[in-house]
Amino acid sequence: MDILQPAVYKEPAPILDKENPFESMMHRFDVAAHLLNLEPGVYEYLKTPVKQIIISIPIAMDNGEIKVFEGYRVIHNDILGPSKGGIRYAPDVSLDEMKALAAWMTWKCAIMNIPFGGAKGGVRCDPGKLAPLVIEKITRRYTANLLDIFGPDRDVPAPDMNTNEQVMAWIMDTYSMHLRRTETAVVTGKPQILGGSLGRREATGRGCMIVTLTAMEKLGLKPKDTTIVVQGFGNVGSTTAQLLAEKGCKIIGIGDVSAAYYNKKGIDLANASEWVKSSRTLAGFQGAERISQEELLELECDVLVPAAKEDQITHRNAAKIKAKIICEGANGPTTAKADPILQEKGILVIPDILANAGGVTVSYFEWVQDRVGYFWSLDRVNSRLERMMSEAFISVYESAERYKVSLRIGAYILAIDKVARTLKLRGIYG
Ligand code: NAD
Repeated sequence: MDILQPAVYKEPAPILDKENPFESMMHRFDVAAHLLNLEPGVYEYLKTPVKQIIISIPIAMDNGEIKVFEGYRVIHNDILGPSKGGIRYAPDVSLDEMKALAAWMTWKCAIMNIPFGGAKGGVRCDPGKLAPLVIEKITRRYTANLLDIFGPDRDVPAPDMNTNEQVMAWIMDTYSMHLRRTETAVVTGKPQILGGSLGRREATGRGCMIVTLTAMEKLGLKPKDTTIVVQGFGNVGSTTAQLLAEKGCKIIGIGDVSAAYYNKKGIDLANASEWVKSSRTLAGFQGAERISQEELLELECDVLVPAAKEDQITHRNAAKIKAKIICEGANGPTTAKADPILQEKGILVIPDILANAGGVTVSYFEWVQDRVGYFWSLDRVNSRLERMMSEAFISVYESAERYKVSLRIGAYILAIDKVARTLKLRGIYG
């Protein structure tokens, strides 16, 4: 079988007016597959998840009632190694969303040269309205139902939206109880005391900082002359803002789900973090002028870091974005329909599958450390992360130049080509 034989394969389909993350992912996949002349059979293979699991999670609630939650785990691909991907708890979790996020994990690991495939999981629930004990019960039953799927050599979960170190500790404990021995490498993003890695919590923001500085260098922007706007002030957004500020950049806009703020002289991030610590959100912060969520994204600035959620830059607002660089801290913050508008404006977009890959990279470091049983210093974690992010940026940049495409399509080409070539070597068992 010749995987990269000449194309007999259709043009990418036009983008539909209504977009969802899966359609956005598939559109970019189609463009890259077309440029790679991917054989139709391989195209079919790579677009189809290996496993899509839907489970029911019955829970005895505090009042004695039984409530049934729906849980998901999608393994998109495991050609490069055990599948890896976060677990999200939210009321709008759906199979389509899981499929897109799982595929992004496959491409992300391929770009980073990490020996993992891609997966994603979640439970449809509203964790804000659930007692911690119920969240623990959901987590343990979810894990027990997926015992045959999870495993350090099979499928390795991590935190995502509304799940954290504590949830990972419960998954690790439940899995270990059934195994009759402690198995720390079954999840990453654990508390350090249970085998978590130093530097994991800041890893995604640190990765964003590294690729942003590299992109700034390409455009001849010096940190002291660079203004930054960050949407989302959680783990990724606040760390990226802080680390870029430490490099000398001026953070002029920040925002979270509650409010957005602008200060052309620069925002005092320590004050903003203190405020969020005491009031949970940014609303009411005094160190800057309040603006609308739309205005935040459209501010005059050098770098915009969307680090909140999907579908923030769309065909409706893309033409109004004034940044020179967009660093996608979030997964899927830009829709496929917005891509050509940003490209037309000459904005350099560092795509999510590269920009936020620092998290999965240090998750990989955590898995390696757990399996060897020897833990690295923070310096070692950070310097290896820096090397891998810089190498990935260069590979994506070269791929984009070679095919004369955006960094996003260059990244997809690099990833799909790597997985397809690995598939060719392994062959099809069937
Ligand atoms: P988080 O929960 O710590 O923070 C999310 C932030 O976004 C919060 O400040 C929240 O208020 C804000 N937000 C939510 N909805 C918003 C809206 N509609 N408008 C403006 N702000 C809004 O989450 P996080 O871990 O920082 O993740 C953020 C994004 O980065 C997600 O897309 C996630 O999938 C992605 N990501 C995270 C990691 C990681 O290691 N944490 C790794 C890769 C990708």
